[in-house]
Amino acid sequence: NTPLHELDPDVAAAVDAELRRQQSTLEMIASENFAPVAVMEAQGSVLTNKYAEGYPGRRYYGGCEHVDVAEQIAIDRIKDLFGAEYANVQPHSGASANQAALFAIAQPGDTILGLDLAHGGHLTHGMRLNFSGKQFNVVAYHVDDAGLVDMAEVERLAKEHRPKVIIAGWSAYPRRLDFAEFRRIADEVGAYLWVDMAHFAGLVAAGLHPNPVEYADVVTSTTHKTLGGPRGGIILAKKEFAKKLNSSVFPGFQGGPLEHVIAAKAVSFKIAASEEFKERQERTLEGARILAERLVQDDVTAHGVSVLSGGTDVHLVLVDLRDSELDGQQAEDRLHEVGITVNRNAVPNDPRPPMVTSGLRIGTPALATRGFRAEDFTEVADIIAETLKPGFDAEALKARVTALADKHPLYPGLK
Ligand code: PLP
Repeated sequence: NTPLHELDPDVAAAVDAELRRQQSTLEMIASENFAPVAVMEAQGSVLTNKYAEGYPGRRYYGGCEHVDVAEQIAIDRIKDLFGAEYANVQPHSGASANQAALFAIAQPGDTILGLDLAHGGHLTHGMRLNFSGKQFNVVAYHVDDAGLVDMAEVERLAKEHRPKVIIAGWSAYPRRLDFAEFRRIADEVGAYLWVDMAHFAGLVAAGLHPNPVEYADVVTSTTHKTLGGPRGGIILAKKEFAKKLNSSVFPGFQGGPLEHVIAAKAVSFKIAASEEFKERQERTLEGARILAERLVQDDVTAHGVSVLSGGTDVHLVLVDLRDSELDGQQAEDRLHEVGITVNRNAVPNDPRPPMVTSGLRIGTPALATRGFRAEDFTEVADIIAETLKPGFDAEALKARVTALADKHPLYPGLK
């Protein structure tokens, strides 16, 4: 029972340093968030010790009576939250959820139609080196010149290639997808519609974004992005897919579920149904809107910096640096220097190589969780705008970042 700091000071030092990094900088990676202490408590609990292959009430191990309770709570809560007929809370991650979902509704060699990675799609939607790209026949759709998903192209490709599955979802896209139109096209060609809502699930839970569960055959998500829970994945679906999905997750791709993470998911789903969570998602959206508006003002666009699609409807902004002397890597480094963490991101038809890129993806969920309101997001937006201009004053900007971090302490009880 020796505590971590005594047993392993080296690992403890890395954990402490990471806590200090999170507390003292501004986290704006769009796929990240801060899990509540109660979620981390469940995740760090004795449930980590338990093997529980199978599903609640039908396990292959003894002693599952308590993890059954926690897993059933997670299932019931997530079904309620999104109005789903079926839920599987066992996928270890978003990619695992996607793998299990895809293999449940399609066979290797089948055609799948998804958003191109370079246009905002995810690796698991058909990227060449991913299982999806290696084992399926991938056809990709794109965004148009205005930066919006080209639904005419989706329809044309669907009719031409007759995919088994159409994938609607993204990792880097600042607008809402037209789920009704995706459904119409899927029905027209006899395809399944799979929506990957990993990024925007929190907005859906808060009622601030259309709910894909109403349109799709299968919906997957991560639990750690806008949804604000522990790292992990989930699958939602119509009842008719229940058997196939359950057996695809276990024994198809996974063995024992991570019951400590599942308990933590259950806690985060309770929070996601609260008024406080809805208010937080409203601030998340407001923050992204404020950021987009600031970055299309003349003093910024004069330096070749702009925003893809001209704005945002979600929790992130995609900065377009194609006309700027600054590339994605340099912009990411500059923001890091002043204490703001973002990731560089390829933009559609990016002229620079993938390790450099001509874009930034900047998200507001983590700062909203930290308590940021409109006036704080306005200050962050100003700091980012100044940092992206030539002759930026790193020291002065870093002091402004520190003032914001101090104003909204993160994990004040943790040391
Ligand atoms: N799906 C989408 C749309 C994502 O953006 C991501 C992660 O970035 C994933 C799936 C994969 O999630 P994970 O990193 O948990 O495997």
